[in-house]
Amino acid sequence: MGCASSDIRENNSQEPNSVKRNLVITGANKGIGYATVERLVAENAQFDIIATSRNVELGEKAAREIRNKYPNFKNDLIYRQLDVDDEKSVNVFVDWVKNKYGKLDVLVNNAGVLYENPTVDQQIKTIKTNFFSVVTLTEKFLPLLTKDGKIVNVSSIVGSLSWQGPTLRKAIENERITEKQLFNIAHNIIEETRDYPKEALISDPSYPASKALLNTYIRRFLVAKLKDNQQCYSLHPGVVQTDMAAGLEGKIKLITPYEGADTSVYLINLPFVKNSEFNGKFFDNRKVVVY
Ligand code: NAP
Repeated sequence: MGCASSDIRENNSQEPNSVKRNLVITGANKGIGYATVERLVAENAQFDIIATSRNVELGEKAAREIRNKYPNFKNDLIYRQLDVDDEKSVNVFVDWVKNKYGKLDVLVNNAGVLYENPTVDQQIKTIKTNFFSVVTLTEKFLPLLTKDGKIVNVSSIVGSLSWQGPTLRKAIENERITEKQLFNIAHNIIEETRDYPKEALISDPSYPASKALLNTYIRRFLVAKLKDNQQCYSLHPGVVQTDMAAGLEGKIKLITPYEGADTSVYLINLPFVKNSEFNGKFFDNRKVVVY
């Protein structure tokens, strides 16, 4: 694994930006999603921000807190309900964005789950939330994505090939894998992760697998579906002190959610210009990581 770039903002110059942009983020009621919204609002970002969560009360509370803390935010911070695993919720939300804005400039797929000692049903749910639901939401938004729109996906370094067991690793490192084969692997994940190393820091194989599937989808398939100046990225936020990482307390150094939002904010703010060199790549700490 190695870093292959410096600050890529240096490679971009002007930015055509006369129309007000909008941004949707999932899982924004707490953790890295909350911190990402807070950072964007604090820096008076150029977007109308649509913060979403599956629980309305928690999501509205989070948005209200941020609005109250930064009353000078010049754009809108709007809250909407969105459970990425719920087809009806997804359809209602996508229709709402379509009717209100007629377009989307930035989609931040941040929501995710990690269960401690999961049952098989929870492992399957992990694959659904962290992989299938991201794919579904992304593809539903693709027709609305502006010509220079951007999709930022909060993935994880544990999605790298080196974190997977031999069976899954062999399946997804196949250069000729098709999208259908990738989805079949995801549907068959219990069998595909049977030889995951038991001594790994994250004991549940479905979480690293979900992120490996996501990274593969972005790198191989999503990037090929983009048009014009559209960009997509996946990223590792660091090991962040959130509810998700509670099981890692004391085992490894954790960074704050504010710090954990840094690469998301960096990618969100990249100029809206063609970026062929980095499109589809995986970022850690603002740098492209090759693995
Ligand atoms: P978190 O504090 O547990 O937040 C996860 C967020 O995802 C919550 O808002 C949660 O909502 C939401 N979510 C889960 N299922 C959802 C669904 N079906 N629909 C909509 N929202 C849903 O964890 P986090 O650390 O901030 O995680 C954010 C992202 O970073 C995840 O994709 C995670 O895999 C990734 N990540 C985290 C770390 C880390 O060290 N923390 C490291 C690498 C990657 P509820 O409050 O309703 O549960």
